[in-house]
Amino acid sequence: MVAVTSAGRGGDVDSERLSAALLRLEDEINWDAGPMLNRAVELEQYARDLGDELLIARAELSQANLHMRNGDVTLAAKRIWKVHKWALDNDAKQLAARTHLVWSNIHRHLGDAAQSLEHAVLCVELLDETATDFMHIWHRNKLGDALALSGSADAARTRYEQAADLATELDRPDLLLAVLNNYAYAEYAAGNSEHARHVADRLRTLAKQEGFKLDASIQDTVGVIQIENQQYAEAERTMIACIDSYHDGGAQDDADALPEYLLTLARAQRGLHAYARAQRSLDASRRLCAERELGQVLVKVHQEQAELHAARGEFAEAFAAHKEFFAAYNRMHSMRREAQARTRQVMLETTEAREEAELFREQARRDPLTGLHNRRYVDEQLPDLIAADSLVTVAILDIDHFKQINDHLSHDVGDQVLVRVAKLLESELAAVSPDGFAARLGGEEFLLVLPDTPEERAVRLLDRIRRVVGRHDWVALTRQLPVTVSIGVAGGGNAAEATQAALLSTADRNLYAAKHGGRDRVVCGSGSGGHGRQYRDSASAA
Ligand code: GH3
Ligand code: MG
Ligand code: MG
Repeated sequence: MVAVTSAGRGGDVDSERLSAALLRLEDEINWDAGPMLNRAVELEQYARDLGDELLIARAELSQANLHMRNGDVTLAAKRIWKVHKWALDNDAKQLAARTHLVWSNIHRHLGDAAQSLEHAVLCVELLDETATDFMHIWHRNKLGDALALSGSADAARTRYEQAADLATELDRPDLLLAVLNNYAYAEYAAGNSEHARHVADRLRTLAKQEGFKLDASIQDTVGVIQIENQQYAEAERTMIACIDSYHDGGAQDDADALPEYLLTLARAQRGLHAYARAQRSLDASRRLCAERELGQVLVKVHQEQAELHAARGEFAEAFAAHKEFFAAYNRMHSMRREAQARTRQVMLETTEAREEAELFREQARRDPLTGLHNRRYVDEQLPDLIAADSLVTVAILDIDHFKQINDHLSHDVGDQVLVRVAKLLESELAAVSPDGFAARLGGEEFLLVLPDTPEERAVRLLDRIRRVVGRHDWVALTRQLPVTVSIGVAGGGNAAEATQAALLSTADRNLYAAKHGGRDRVVCGSGSGGHGRQYRDSASAA
């Protein structure tokens, strides 16, 4: 393990070492989920101390992956959303490729082959030169799994062969072994026992060459393939060796591993007509299933029991065992469907929560009365806009004698005037400056932003807007009271210093000049004397 210790927290833990430590979790196939989960949590904390968002997201993804490995698909699905979105928003291709891989596994656990395949395709498509060797090999291997699951045996074979070639080329016999294991199992599950045997032979040859001891799960794959090919004696030997290696080093295997191996052993022994041995193996498997509450394996135990009775000619018992199998099978499936429904519900709720959060984010940047953008939006958008566009022109617009409308009519009428002015500004601006925007800065004061519009031209457009407001038919709303606006302009091209603060301050000064000049007018320029140039093509009926 890399020397990321708690002593380093907040001190000398650098991003590079943390990244290497994360990579060790990410590019690992021999999972010991418990301790690794603790490690991933620890690494997330280091990443937070560093404030490195990519590393935080990577540590979170590792945790999601480990939750899934622990069988907690719902928790995995819950956690992965955020990471996935972050990866897409930040164009973090490697991370996105890895999130798609985990998504693919989640959907496979949920029994959704189509979704699983969709994500598996993306997890390979996103691979580029920044991806690790592990990813190149492993993601293709998992695409093979997803294709096999969706019934495309030929396409799956192509991907497994690609993954195997790459593993050979990149000198990763450990990964090659794992790829061949998945490949052999997929061929077996698809009913291609002949080809499955061929791949299993490659698997064993490789192990011999490299001096690898086949672990128990791989031996189980070999065993079931031998049974499928009626090599029962070989299968019994394989499974006895498998159970031995399980006892040697299998402490970290899943709870259902040993009962599964015993079941495979029983099937091999039944094939040999060694019924007494088969019954002993089966009883041992059944006991473990009961102890460990392994419903899924127990279903298969009932099934094998029926087969065994039938092989011995005990048809009444076979029928009873079959009935038991059938009931257990149905129970398991309805439980699985319920679990899947729960996970889907959580996934849906998470999507909704995410969309809602985005909606809140958007709402927080809108003025509730007029629906225009607010000051917060301006503060977020304007600095970059000004920096990128030297010809941007901004204007502050203030309604003239607005207080009178409130006082003589009502606050409510005042509100309606604000809403109507906002609508006019929005539609007029959209017509002359589609990339621009209008915002309500507060009270009866608005900001208009016209990108790529030199001040001269902007002033003509703004004066037109001024006239449109003044000539609008206000009678129904304000009776005899006119509604006019004063506008102060600041052009980025004319400013000595084009920053948000400088431009808004010039615009404000010009607005003040417009008020003092008699209102209902546009004032522009950056005259340091405090008075800009007045612009008023034709006054409205003020
Ligand atoms: P000037 O031409 O100098 O701008 O005069 P004015 O009356 O428009 O300016 P003043 O700043 O004196 O008054 C602005 C008024 O706008 C005061 C305030 O009560 C009112 N106001 C601010 N926000 C709202 C609002 O949301 N709704 C309504 N109805 N009135 C508001
Ligand atoms: Mg006013
Ligand atoms: Mg005002």
